[in-house]
Amino acid sequence: MRIVVVGGSLSGLSAGIALARAGHEVRVLERATIQPGGAGLGIDLALLHDVTGADPATLAVVRGNRYSSSWYLVRQWLVDIALKTAGLQMRDGVEATSYTVDGDTVVLQTTQGAQDADLLVGADGYKSSVRAFVDPEHNDALYSGYMLWRGMCSEEQMPSTTRWPSGYVDVHFTQRYRLVAYAVPGPDGSLVPGHRQISWAWYDPDRRAFLEARNCIVGDRVIGTLSGDRFDEPLKAELIAEAERSWPSPWREAILATLRSGEPFATPIAEYVPNRLTSHRALIIGDAAHVASPMTGSGFRYALLDVLAIRGALASNADLGAALRTFEHERLNDDRQLVLAGHAWGQQYLQQG
Ligand SMILES: Cc1cc2nc3c(=O)[nH]c(=O)nc-3n(C[C@H](O)[C@H](O)[C@H](O)COP(=O)(O)OP(=O)(O)OC[C@H]3O[C@@H](n4cnc5c(N)ncnc54)[C@H](O)[C@@H]3O)c2cc1C
Repeated sequence: MRIVVVGGSLSGLSAGIALARAGHEVRVLERATIQPGGAGLGIDLALLHDVTGADPATLAVVRGNRYSSSWYLVRQWLVDIALKTAGLQMRDGVEATSYTVDGDTVVLQTTQGAQDADLLVGADGYKSSVRAFVDPEHNDALYSGYMLWRGMCSEEQMPSTTRWPSGYVDVHFTQRYRLVAYAVPGPDGSLVPGHRQISWAWYDPDRRAFLEARNCIVGDRVIGTLSGDRFDEPLKAELIAEAERSWPSPWREAILATLRSGEPFATPIAEYVPNRLTSHRALIIGDAAHVASPMTGSGFRYALLDVLAIRGALASNADLGAALRTFEHERLNDDRQLVLAGHAWGQQYLQQG
């Protein structure tokens, strides 16, 4: 089958690799030229192996109460596998702009001309345009009511006297905030304490006006993240004072180093509970299908489960319509429950302060 995947980040590359390995002819379209950055994340190595067939020991992870890596290292690892996968083409700098179905073919308009395929897979993230095609009446990811200040700091940017953390994920609370922080491999994959990176995410419940004023949310619609180059000096000074008051070492040092000389971000947390995952020769996976609070720590894990489900549904159904129904039957309830669980935890956090 000829399959086009829109979105070449973690979900799209995972889908491309799994479907090409299953014998399909796959193109992955990515609009951006991907740069280093992104958050840390917990990885299910067994699931990653099931999806890619690759040896997960070749991915750098910090081991503790889970396997932690960084978004960029995982993406690079997937790109390396994708480049060696027969039947898979990756095209960067191509944005899909609209979709139609013409008989047995799905037609995409892109910034590089029209393309067609037998099946369209939307892996295009929380503001997915494929989702708008699959479910036009219900396609906006909505603001959860809280945001993250977040960042990634090289341990080399922190004072050399710092007591380096173990591999465990650490969670702290104040009356208002919540902090989740942990070590991930260095940009070169180093696991040596002092040469890794610290990923930190600081939940803040009370910033609607701040986010609205900067166009990160409009009403309840989430528009985007604010990068550190748009943090003004009074905001940085306020966050530095709050971090000094609120957070213990070594996370405090990581946050201060990021705020003073790194790349902090302000991210409104979005949520999307799907009512459907398929239509018209198209399906959605990953954040295109379900946008869950990072409190669940499972968005990518569920994307991998989505990928296994499509691969299985296409293998066991000769008819595409039946395969799409099988996929939706297998994933819709789980994907909804993930977002709803994250929503419930978020509401608890908002109510308890
Ligand atoms: C702070 C934080 C911590 C997290 N921790 C964890 C964790 O511990 N474990 C876990 O499993 N998950 C975690 N997650 C969730 C996880 O990061 C996401 O679920 C996952 O990265 C989503 O990947 P994706 O490929 O679906 O979407 P995205 O990363 O959003 O990728 C979508 C891609 O599609 C491209 N695109 C969009 N539109 C188009 C178009 N029209 N044409 C072409 N390309 C397009 C974009 O440029 C982008 O590259 C965390 C998330 C956050 C924010």
